[in-house]
Amino acid sequence: MKVTQALMSVSDKHGVVDFARGLTQLGIKLLSTGGTAKLLRQAGLPVTDVADYTGFPEMLDGRVKTLHPKVHGGILGRRDLPEHLTTMAARGIAPIDLVVVNLYPFQETVAKPDVTLDEAIENIDIGGPAMVRAAAKNHGNEAGGVGIITDPADYAPVLAEIQATGSIAYQTRFALAKKAFTHTARYDAAIANWLTALDDKNQPGLFADKLQLAFDKVETLRYGENPHQQAAFYKEATPLAGSIASYAQLQGKELSYNNIADADAAWECVKAFAGQTACVIVKHANPCGVAVGGSVEEVYRKAFKTDPTSAFGGIIAFNVAIDESAAHAIASQFAEVIIAPEITPAARAVFATKQNLRVLKIPEGDPKVVQSKHHAGAGETAGVIKTTQTFDYKRVGGGLLVQTTDDARIAVSDLKIVSRRHPTPDEMRDLLFAWQVAKYVKSNAIVYCKDGMTVGVGAGQMSRVDSARIAAIKAENNGLTVVGSVVASDAFFPFRDGLDVLAQAGATAVIQPGGSVRDSEVIAAADEQNIAMVCTGMRHFRH
Ligand code: 5GP
Repeated sequence: MKVTQALMSVSDKHGVVDFARGLTQLGIKLLSTGGTAKLLRQAGLPVTDVADYTGFPEMLDGRVKTLHPKVHGGILGRRDLPEHLTTMAARGIAPIDLVVVNLYPFQETVAKPDVTLDEAIENIDIGGPAMVRAAAKNHGNEAGGVGIITDPADYAPVLAEIQATGSIAYQTRFALAKKAFTHTARYDAAIANWLTALDDKNQPGLFADKLQLAFDKVETLRYGENPHQQAAFYKEATPLAGSIASYAQLQGKELSYNNIADADAAWECVKAFAGQTACVIVKHANPCGVAVGGSVEEVYRKAFKTDPTSAFGGIIAFNVAIDESAAHAIASQFAEVIIAPEITPAARAVFATKQNLRVLKIPEGDPKVVQSKHHAGAGETAGVIKTTQTFDYKRVGGGLLVQTTDDARIAVSDLKIVSRRHPTPDEMRDLLFAWQVAKYVKSNAIVYCKDGMTVGVGAGQMSRVDSARIAAIKAENNGLTVVGSVVASDAFFPFRDGLDVLAQAGATAVIQPGGSVRDSEVIAAADEQNIAMVCTGMRHFRH
């Protein structure tokens, strides 16, 4: 079915003139609302104002522009039902075959720091979503239907299709309709999230403009955490730049649910070592080996040495490009997934000999910036809306716990040396490394480190003393010694017993948040055993 008439009503006017010109050249009639019509007319394009078409002026400060049977009848009438076509003709309603709408900028408005409730409410689009939903609903079938464009990125491909065929194929219309419903759903979710997050004085709350509860499906997974569970991977509408959601798989078997979860854990941990070459090996969501310093191959070998048994079938992440020699070292072991911001061609050739090995590349991005596509309106520059706050969600029965991400960092100047003996510079360097690792280990976390390498990781125990014991036992089992190492504890020692375990194992320095009612007892225990103790004042529970 030929496209004969298009309705254009856009707030974000980027690209709309060129698109309209292309449609005009194909003889397609244009209907448009006030601001959009003015812009098209200024560009010398023939356009009919919706107000002239319906006989009703835009009114009530623009609240009512297109809400009229001549518009909605033209969009909603079924092209395959003769009764619909007869009714439309009898009422002087011409079919509208293409609807081009994007909505009042509600999200951008509420992202402004000084936004008022009135301003936010005025930026709730009414007629726009009505047209988007009407057009999406009537995307039709092979006999015909309406095309709906909500994203300026679709102007060029749709124009090319109409230029080639005179119409928009059913497949394209259906794809555009899915996108359109996603667009309006997200728009309404943004309104609901912002309004419900207002505090009791109607001021924007912490999560007001940023909470993202809109997700897009990336892929269906073969199964979930276990084979009898169904699963899929969804990503946020505007994922954090450089996060697992933006992975590209270069080779290997399909990613599983557990692969993605562990790849995320490894990648988030390795990103924390910006400025140093780092390798993190993860197994069942916990780092089982982390190392910094040296060549890529060296950090890999060090990380692997922590716990070769657990590293078998592990997920390995690097924060730098993987080179050929590192690739050879990795390929000689069994790994499930390899992740890096870059993999050199020579390293790729090495991995290519291991067909099943999953190799992921994740583009580096400023890890604190959430990218959100923003096309320019008239007189603005196109760009990216930058939000620095991101959130963690945890599913609980019947609900969702939401918190800001644990991305706070301590500076050396925040540290308090509480023991009599001060850490040596080498101890201090390893303490900071251990602290960084402990943040990514499930609580209770105890991490022994030496020379930029983990030597024992105690994770996920219900008691800190057990984590301390297990970490030392694991080190011993792997032929390593914790004598002369330093230790990080993700939370304070409630009693001195945990510290005594570390001291007896041979640790020389400890970093921990402090803040227990028994701090003085714990510090006295450290002094008794000549342990240097540093307090961070910050806890890093991870469950
Ligand atoms: P324009 O700049 O062309 O004057 O207005 C375009 C905007 O108006 C689009 O964002 C579109 O979604 C919105 N719009 C179109 N019809 C209506 C309506 O009847 N009521 C409201 N509130 N907005 C509308």
